[in-house]
Amino acid sequence: SAYWRKKGADTFEVRQLADLGRGMDLLALPGGESTVQGKLLKDLGLFDPIKKLIEGGLPVFATCAGLILLAERIDDPGRRDDTRPEKWFGVLPVAVKRNAYGRQLGSFTTIGKWDGIPDTTMTFIRAPSITAVSDGVEVLSTFDGQPTSVRWRNITAFTWHPELSATA
Ligand code: GLN
Repeated sequence: SAYWRKKGADTFEVRQLADLGRGMDLLALPGGESTVQGKLLKDLGLFDPIKKLIEGGLPVFATCAGLILLAERIDDPGRRDDTRPEKWFGVLPVAVKRNAYGRQLGSFTTIGKWDGIPDTTMTFIRAPSITAVSDGVEVLSTFDGQPTSVRWRNITAFTWHPELSATA
């Protein structure tokens, strides 16, 4: 939220149900730990109302764990195969693989193209990879042949952290 404030936006954090009543033009779903975020959203009663807002067309900007919360399919190599990966909002028709870059490459920075603009620093922090996208999902950036940011209807989602890049 500090990032958006710096950009001149009037921001507030959604921490409880009452916060949703304040109304917003855009919802940012930040990075973090998607399993914890999903569980908290459910425990706080925020999950269903937020899902409705997203399905109703509220513009959403998501990074990393936020993207995992939105994805329709989640491949989680950290889970034993007898537990099915949790699907959270499931509103973005992409498949993601959590913690896709392994331990060595858990966090790294690279230079890539974003939406036709060259030389964008991309910071990945234990990032997921996008392993499949449905028709109609626009790919905004790639790394190593895989999409790293996508746009679909009212949703823009990044596997990397644009708010940490000097050029963002
Ligand atoms: N590894 C985290 C997850 O799986 C995402 C990390 C991040 O948001 N930077 O939820």
